[in-house]
Amino acid sequence: MTDHSPNHDPTCLFCKIIAKQIPSRRVYEDEEFYAFHDIAPWAPVHFLLIPKAHIASMAQVTQGHAALMGRMMALVPVLASQAGCRPYPEGGFRLVTNTGAEGGQEVRHLHFHIMGGPRPWLRG
Ligand code: AMP
Ligand code: ZN
Repeated sequence: MTDHSPNHDPTCLFCKIIAKQIPSRRVYEDEEFYAFHDIAPWAPVHFLLIPKAHIASMAQVTQGHAALMGRMMALVPVLASQAGCRPYPEGGFRLVTNTGAEGGQEVRHLHFHIMGGPRPWLRG
């Protein structure tokens, strides 16, 4: 992803993280996705999975994103397991996508929160 990509917003915090302009602790990366530890974790495991393409939120997702979103969903259990979430059903994880101001979204680049690990958690 370069600054010239039409899918990159130079003012977006997560686009800057993808571009390595802001440091992050990487969990996973491929051509389409980036995952990194949340800077303020709620749970023993708490990372964010984002598409490299700048999509503002779930509110902007359309049928045209179906294949991309399918691949994103399929990454969740793999990365959760690799990050230390114990197996289902005793373990598991929580998948959260805040959308818009009333949905509690602070960073306007689509992201999945993936949280897990032994309870109690700080929140959630
Ligand atoms: P949301 O409120 O759903 O938009 O979530 C945004 C998340 O991004 C929060 O959980 C923040 O802790 C996290 N966050 C903000 N800045 C950074 C950063 N530089 N590196 C990692 N996580 C961040
Ligand atoms: Zn972005």
